[in-house]
Amino acid sequence: MGWGWIGALALAAGAVGEGLGETFVLPTANRALYEPGQEDRYYVGTVGQPWVTGTFGCVRTRGQQFHEGLDIRCLERDAAGEPVDAVRATADGEVMYANRRASLSNYGCYVVVRHRIEGLEVYSLYAHLQDVRDGLAAGWTVRAGEALGRLGRTTNTREPISKARAHLHFELGLRASDRYAQWHQRNRPDTRNDHGEWHGHNLLGMDPAWILLEQARRGSHFSLLEFLRRQPELCRVLVRGGTFGWAQRHAALVLPNARAAREGTAGYEVALAFNGLPVRVTPRAASEADLSRRFQLLEVNEGEAQTRRCQSLVVRRDGHWSLSGAGERLLDLLAF
Ligand SMILES: [Zn+2]
Repeated sequence: MGWGWIGALALAAGAVGEGLGETFVLPTANRALYEPGQEDRYYVGTVGQPWVTGTFGCVRTRGQQFHEGLDIRCLERDAAGEPVDAVRATADGEVMYANRRASLSNYGCYVVVRHRIEGLEVYSLYAHLQDVRDGLAAGWTVRAGEALGRLGRTTNTREPISKARAHLHFELGLRASDRYAQWHQRNRPDTRNDHGEWHGHNLLGMDPAWILLEQARRGSHFSLLEFLRRQPELCRVLVRGGTFGWAQRHAALVLPNARAAREGTAGYEVALAFNGLPVRVTPRAASEADLSRRFQLLEVNEGEAQTRRCQSLVVRRDGHWSLSGAGERLLDLLAF
């Protein structure tokens, strides 16, 4: 069976199934996300755990471990019990990366696609694929709903993914750095990076389920930019320096500040979501900020820090909050 055929079929199904004018479509034929009470038909939980462990957030190991995407259940299997569902691009975009060597990543075989939405560069990632569509490679233009590969259970972890738990791991995120490969080499020389810029650590996730459901609810009024700007902050940090990589890459998330515009930007005030995704960035002038340190923690949202603690970007010692090692590392990557 040729991939062209599956691709055309999936494209048609996507166009019919999702209606017109929506930015994001479901990445597989499973539509149970839109059926309240049917979550266990949409998500695959971890071994022996409920479906919620297949959602996005601090959902694993009693809230201590972050899951950065959705684990989506397959609908169809072949005679051997292997999944056959097509995995489709969630929006129009360009393929950035296709890893066909499952042994090189805990994502197994995976594909990364870039989308341009409301002035943002947004990335989608599709992991544990059984196989990647023939010929699919960086530079390919894909339409929303177009097939990228087949749902599977590939991974390089010691524990294989069982047939029963075969799923698509689906992420939506923004890119932390344009120079991840260089940063990785310098800061994590003990670990291999076979994927250049397309290492999972270079994508900062947002909740795809929330986005898809909000889009379904609000139709053409849905705005991804609004969604990001409204994310609750874990903390606000002042980053010293007149340039901040993230702000240059994501100008749509930068808020205006007349004083910095007039006097010059000496630093950036950055609001981080619980997982380190910068959701609001404000340039600061030297006259309105204490720039004695490279990263200065300004404020912590205690509610958020206590309820969503899996990334531990801030820590409390003797009643005082400070950036953790992980927090400092993340900011270093964002500023690199
Ligand atoms: Zn997953």
